[in-house]
Amino acid sequence: MDTVVDALPGGVELDYPQLLGTAMAAARREAGRGQVAGYIPALAAADPEGFGMAVATVEGEVFGVGDWERPFSLQSISKLFSLALVLAAGGSGSSLWTGVGREPSGTPFNSLVQLETEHGVPRNPFINAGALVVTDRLQTLTGDAAAHVLDFLRTEAGNPAIAIDADVAASEAEHGHRNAALAHFIASHGNLENPVDDVLREYVAHCSIAASCRDLALAGRFLARHGLRSDGTRMLERSEAKRINAVMLTCGTYDAAGEFAFRVGLPAKSGVGGGVLAVLPGRAAISAWSPALDRAGNSVAAVAALDAFTSASGLSVF
Ligand code: GLN
Repeated sequence: MDTVVDALPGGVELDYPQLLGTAMAAARREAGRGQVAGYIPALAAADPEGFGMAVATVEGEVFGVGDWERPFSLQSISKLFSLALVLAAGGSGSSLWTGVGREPSGTPFNSLVQLETEHGVPRNPFINAGALVVTDRLQTLTGDAAAHVLDFLRTEAGNPAIAIDADVAASEAEHGHRNAALAHFIASHGNLENPVDDVLREYVAHCSIAASCRDLALAGRFLARHGLRSDGTRMLERSEAKRINAVMLTCGTYDAAGEFAFRVGLPAKSGVGGGVLAVLPGRAAISAWSPALDRAGNSVAAVAALDAFTSASGLSVF
């Protein structure tokens, strides 16, 4: 009979700097692949060769390689923080889960097609339609949705310089016809509590936050710490942190979530700025960034780096 031996029992010391070096080498092999997002013109200026990666452990250590302290546009990664803040503010007992589902959409992140047949209830909180509903609920709960996302990131990362990039926000607002269409359609079904323009403004503002891999890994640690913030206070119940991780695994990388789970095996959220934030529950938050994207909108090099990281370490949720 075969014996099953866990190659990495709890307490085993991991050589994170070495793993990050391996991951960066894998990312470099993807040079020249993918396209920088062009539908938000201000993002098109990003350097396609840029790459950074960071690991923040549950104990508080931080490691990084490449451009790991260079800020980039968070875009859809911000949706993770707005969701967590709604749940932290008691939103799970509110209208959140009646207004947004928890199933993968199988369609592009900015698709309009399912909303009509599904009566204005988006499939999940991480496609644009769902994130608009989450932003709306956060606006109801706080009156200042984007400011709350920004404040959370600054506090968890210990970096008051994290800011909304006004050029990206203006560019996204100017070219935001699809998001405006989604928001109006959702509103037509009575699934927004705030005026469409307010929801769009707050959504664009939190998507336009610029932060580095270092900031992001630190800010994502609450998901590795089962809901505990960096100061030790409880932000989310353990089961709520589990639920966010579960939705990340199934829906966090758009309609490529199956492929991402197959390759990387971690809950993660990506953004069209080229960032990915992944969670190793109980151990660490890992962020990677490189602006050139695949057809689904995920960073080619960041995904390759995370793939190499989990393959070399044997760490994943499976
Ligand atoms: N702000 C972007 C948008 O609304 C976010 C998309 C993304 O990162 N996938 O289109």
